[in-house]
This record gives sequence, structure tokens and C-alpha cells, in this order.
Amino acid sequence: MTRFYSIRFRLTATFIAIILAVMIIISFFLYTTLERYYINNFADTLERSGFLAAEFVAGHLRGQVDSVRLSALAENMSRQSQARVIFLDQQGMVVGDSMRVGGLLNQTLDNPEVAAALNGSVSSSTGFSERVQQPVMQIAVPVQDGDGNILGVVFLSASLEEVERILNDIRRFLFLATVLAMGIVGGGSIALARRFTGPLEKVTAAARKMAEGKLDQHIEISSGDEIGRLANQFNIMAKRLNYYTSNLKKFAADVAHEVRTPLTTMGLLTKALKEHEMEQEQQKDFINDLDNELERLTALVNDLLELSKLEKNEIELEEIEMNHFLRDMLGEYQYRFIHAGLELLDEITTETCLVNAAPLQMRQVVSNLLDNALNYTPSGGTIKVVLQREEEEAVTIVEDTGCGIPEEDLNYIFERFFRVDRARSREGGGTGLGLAIVSEIIAKHGGRVWVESEEGVGSKFYFALPLAESQDVMKS
Ligand code: ADP
Repeated sequence: MTRFYSIRFRLTATFIAIILAVMIIISFFLYTTLERYYINNFADTLERSGFLAAEFVAGHLRGQVDSVRLSALAENMSRQSQARVIFLDQQGMVVGDSMRVGGLLNQTLDNPEVAAALNGSVSSSTGFSERVQQPVMQIAVPVQDGDGNILGVVFLSASLEEVERILNDIRRFLFLATVLAMGIVGGGSIALARRFTGPLEKVTAAARKMAEGKLDQHIEISSGDEIGRLANQFNIMAKRLNYYTSNLKKFAADVAHEVRTPLTTMGLLTKALKEHEMEQEQQKDFINDLDNELERLTALVNDLLELSKLEKNEIELEEIEMNHFLRDMLGEYQYRFIHAGLELLDEITTETCLVNAAPLQMRQVVSNLLDNALNYTPSGGTIKVVLQREEEEAVTIVEDTGCGIPEEDLNYIFERFFRVDRARSREGGGTGLGLAIVSEIIAKHGGRVWVESEEGVGSKFYFALPLAESQDVMKS
């Protein structure tokens, strides 16, 4: 049943129907024109023969009429004009007939054409002759003397068999041309439809496989037309979907792995506390360790929640003055820097840097970067926070003189759970999600984030947000 709804079937059927209609119309006009042409031509020839005969026979119809001679004349003319030739006198009596045996000699011919000719006019008709069992054309031409007096009539009756044969040939030719045209158009449209539907079937098959869960699909189509573009978009979609699902799987495995480590430690600590007698001091240390692991787990869960919130929610933007905002945050962090033995340099511009941002998320970005700077910079180091206004962006830089990041890791630094030194990160309470959160928040704000770093020298984390005024210009 679906065969009949397929594009291939419908396209072919439509083309065939169109060509059939066109051929029928063309054939109809062509045939009627040719039919008229042949009949008229035949009638003209017959009429000319009639006039010639009338001219010739005029002398013979005056005075005494010689039927034998006239019949011989009629027979002669009949051979030339391929028609039966009959001569009639003024009374409509046959005085000469090319058909000797069974002819109409000495009989009256009661016929409307003859009656019209006796009144001086030429007329013709077509009909079916019972006698010869053929279609015939009859014509009657008046025979007149020089003064216009009617002397008699020349009556010609010719078989239309030849014309019928030609018209039959034309009909057959038109029928064959129609069948041939339908065949060619049908074949062509099947090939055309296959060209269109072939790639579509490839797309359908690939989509079906994707629906079955086989996401790794790629369609090989080289054409640059609409279907080629559809296939191309499909390939991009499949690739992206594939990337997302494998990322999701990797992420789930990473989460499980991250959760398992503190859980195992906590399990071991609890078991030790339960099963071993220990000093109160030692017990306190164990409980402290337990608390630390719990804190790490809580931090991890919080960061995961933060990430999932980021994926779901639309952010609510407010106008934030970045220089005030950063200065306030540095004020909050000041004691932690002093405590860690780090020098804090403030190079925040005094120019107004208004951005549209969600304040809580901006806090998270800045605190993640400052926490990292604190964690990965040894005591005695320097941390510089810069804010500068560029053409259409407010660029914030958190620069440290810490351990830096190896060049080969720079590309992965914003990925979830990526850490250069796992142990060191855990020591500082890191979850490996801080920079991923930074990157997603900044992306949600339409900004950019990047890093420059040299191992053993220090790191520079940049994030750029579009200035509110440039966004207003774009909107207006
Ligand atoms: P973590 O919680 O481990 O700090 P992040 O996503 O914040 O996770 O950072 C990922 C990794 O990037 C860190 O584990 C660390 O190896 C490296 N990193 C981040 N910030 C710095 C920095 N300022 N200096 C050196 N390395 C850094």
C-alpha cells in the first residue's frame, strides 16, 4: 500500500498523466487539422476534375445527345480522375456513365447534389456507398453554355478509401507516438524519482538506525542540492548527538568515579573507627578525615547541581558594574590571601564597565578563579586581578605566579573533571569542575574564556563579557 504513497510512484503517475493529457490534446488538434486538409484537398481535386469535365462535355450536351459517345468519354475521364463519372442532361436524366455494366444510363438520378447543380450551384457530400461498401465523396457540377444556360450536370463519385487509409495511418502514428512519449516520460520520471528518493531513503534508513539507538550514522551523499544539504545537516546532527551521548556516558562514569573515591575513604575510616580500639586523639583525627571527605563529597554534589542548573535554567540578567563588583570580591578574599602569604595586586580600571550578567553566577566565576589562584600558587607568590575595557567587552584577568599548566593540558583545562595533578587538586578541596562551571557560565552570558599559562611561571585566566552598551546598540 505504501508503494502508492511513495514519491517515486506519485511522480511517475503525475508525469504520465500530464504527458497523456498533452498528447491527447495535440493528437486531437493535429488529427482534425490533417483530416480537414486531406478531405478539402480531395474535394478540390474532385471539383477541378468536375469543372474540366463540364467544360469538355458542354458541346456534347447541346442538341442531339450521343449516350454511347458520352459514356466512352465518361469512362475515359473516370480513368484519369479515379472517380465514377456520370453526365446528366437538363432533366436530370443520365446520358453518360463511366460504369458500363450496371450503370445508370437513361435513368434519372434523384440526388440533392444533382438538384443543386441543375439550379446552377456546385455542391458536394460525403457518405457511405452501399454499392461499393466504401466511404465516398460525391460532387455535382453544372454544365453551362457561354450564356450561362444549364445544359446538364457532371456528377462525380470518388472513393475516400485512400484518404481513409492515410488518416488511419495518422491515427496509428499518433497512438504510437503517445505510447512512446508515455514510455519515455515514465522511464525518465522513474529514473528522476529514483535519483531524488534514493538519497532520501538513505536518510530514512540512517534515521531509523538512530532511532534504534545506533547513533554512529553517516550518510555518503555528494550532491549540493536540497537533499545533499539535508544529508549534510543530518550528518552534523548525528555527529553532535553522538558526541553528546558519549560525553554524557563519560560524564556519568566520571561522576561515579569521583564519588567512589571519598565514599571508599569514608567506608574505610568508619570501619576502622568501628572495629579498632583507639586513643581519643587518633579517633579525633579519623573523624576529622571523615569530615573532610564529607565536605569534598558535598562540594562535588554542589558543583554537579550547579552544572545541571546551568544546563536547565535561563539566566536572569542584571546590570553589573564590573569594577565595583570585582573590588568587593577582592575585599572579601583579602584575608585569605594574607593568610596564604600571597600578595594581591589590583589593576581594576576606574572606567565604567557595565555588563548584563547574573550576579550569583558572576560571583561563582570570580571565586572559582580566585580559589584556583590561591590553591595553585605557593606562599610568597603574587596574584593580580585586572579589569580592562576593550572595544565591546569588559575583560577580566586573574593572573598568578603559581605552578602553571603544562602546554599539552591547556586545551582540556575547561573540561569537566580534568585536573593536571589529581592529588594536588584534592588536597586543595578541588572537584575538577570549577573551570567547567566558569566556562559554561561565561558561554551562557555570550562571553569568552581562555587561559595563558607557563609551567613553573604562572597562569593568566581571562574572561570577556560583552559590554551592556554594545548589546544595546546591537538590539536597536
Ligand atoms: P579543581 O577543582 O581541580 O581546581 P578546576 O576545574 O578549577 O578544578 O581546574 C581544573 C584543573 O586546572 C585543576 O585541577 C588544576 O590542575 C588546573 N588549574 C586550574 N587553575 C589553575 C591555576 N591557577 N594554576 C595552575 N593550575 C590550575
